[in-house]
Amino acid sequence: MAITTIIDQKSDQSRRRKSRLPKGRQVGDADLESVARILGDMPRRRDLLIEALHLIQDDQGHLSAGYLAALADLFRLSQVEVYEVASFYHHFDIVKEGQKPPPATTIRVCDSIACMMAGAENLINDLKSSHGEKVRIQPVPCIGRCANAPAAQFGKRAVDDATPEKIAAMTSIDPEIPDYETFDAYRGGGGYGALEAIQSGRMTADEAITIMSDAGLRGLGGAGFPAGRKWSIVRGFDGPRFLTINGDEGEPGTFKDRFWLESQPHRMLEGAQIAARVVGCEKIYIYMRDEYPAVLEILQREMAALDHAGIDIIPMELRRGAGAYICGEESAMLESIEGKRGLPRHRPPYIAEVGLFGRPTLNHNVETLSWVPDILTNGAQWFASKGKPDHPGVRSYSVSGRVKKPGVVIAPAGTSVNELIDNFCGGMAEGHAFKAYLPGGASGGILPASLGDVPLDFGGQLAEEGAFVGSHAVVVLSDKDNIKKAVINLMKFFEHESCGQCTPCRSGTEKMVKLLSAPGPLDEQTIGDLEAVMRDASICGLGQAAPNPVAHLLKHFRDDL
Ligand code: SF4
Repeated sequence: MAITTIIDQKSDQSRRRKSRLPKGRQVGDADLESVARILGDMPRRRDLLIEALHLIQDDQGHLSAGYLAALADLFRLSQVEVYEVASFYHHFDIVKEGQKPPPATTIRVCDSIACMMAGAENLINDLKSSHGEKVRIQPVPCIGRCANAPAAQFGKRAVDDATPEKIAAMTSIDPEIPDYETFDAYRGGGGYGALEAIQSGRMTADEAITIMSDAGLRGLGGAGFPAGRKWSIVRGFDGPRFLTINGDEGEPGTFKDRFWLESQPHRMLEGAQIAARVVGCEKIYIYMRDEYPAVLEILQREMAALDHAGIDIIPMELRRGAGAYICGEESAMLESIEGKRGLPRHRPPYIAEVGLFGRPTLNHNVETLSWVPDILTNGAQWFASKGKPDHPGVRSYSVSGRVKKPGVVIAPAGTSVNELIDNFCGGMAEGHAFKAYLPGGASGGILPASLGDVPLDFGGQLAEEGAFVGSHAVVVLSDKDNIKKAVINLMKFFEHESCGQCTPCRSGTEKMVKLLSAPGPLDEQTIGDLEAVMRDASICGLGQAAPNPVAHLLKHFRDDL
């Protein structure tokens, strides 16, 4: 038989098999129609994949397998690409074939450190027993309301100082919008004047960068990189360039960005416009936590107001996060804006050179940008002189835990925890004696009260103690708290939030929880080995810094082992 005939016969058989057994999950016409209706006129672009998933989740309350397949078809992506993105983010509920969708109402209860200390465990148990299966009770990591612990979310509505009774009495699941400074109020007080000075040439880009550098403003999302220097570096790379704003403050204990955006959102918006103008960015992307629905609403309103105000602005786009702490890491956030899983990138190249969509990118935290208009209006010295000697500037400390008046404290850079407790927070809570503190959220370590006079700033004495101030999230613990229990809580958080890309972090955080929770004396030799591997071999800061509280537990709190 001729070779061509054999090939023809084989391809005939293969065609017949294909027509009998279609490959992979088939896309239903009804699902396609429904998903197309939900997406409306949204462009079918890869970078909008997470936005599309949000629209479906908002509409349906979950993501069914059929809808995910339809979404893949509409976006011309493979089904696995859509599934891997949807399954990466905690806020997307995938319902597989044969599974029941989740109940219509979800109550999220924060079980991170400040809420744990305030009784989140009991609250979760009480809610589970009182609500049965009609309502889903979901323990979740920090939702940025640590000053009102224990905190919960009833649908999209925040519940501060939550109790089962308070939640039972709630009638709305929509976010409550706090009073805040609107565009008109901000403009009436001279707002957008600094932007106009740049636009008109009364202040040049070089002058603005010099003022920023002399002011000593540093990145307040955690890294502390000098803002003026960052502007110069990104400006030095060929355009087009982008500005991204990291509003994904997920570090347990941090809530200052929410404070600024729920009170004075235009400080950040003007700061962003100035930074983008000076550096030459053609578009601004704001990446905001999905845990902050009120902030999302405020930003939508105020960005629209700014759009219609007749001010020449650089286009801005608001993107919703989807409940992944790792997207607070800048390169992971860029991946997320591009519609992918939030996996941190290997460096170099740094995002200043190869960032969003492969372009030079200036990334800033919300608070950092919020100081920019004031600094350019009042001068470098005005800002620098607000700090303690050798610690220029002013900072927003998120203080929570065992103090009388937790909340955002605006205080000089270099303020110590003793000063925060005594001078700003009304002292320790009744019946509590100061024992320990987290100087910089979950990853910044945990120090004893005997180190309570250390200036809280980047580097310096704090670094010598193996700790860092990060996003200035200060959690105060007392003699009523067991430090080993607190450290296990922090390590469980890291285990939950590890993106899973590298083994030292993915397996290391899991094994560290097991080693710390094992009965009997701790296996300190193995803990030390594991700590070294995590620090040396993890790709990003999450895995590298996760052992900090463990090291401090062994060094400072042996009575609690
Ligand atoms: Fe992901 Fe952790 Fe590795 Fe970072 S260190 S890339 S979070 S697995």
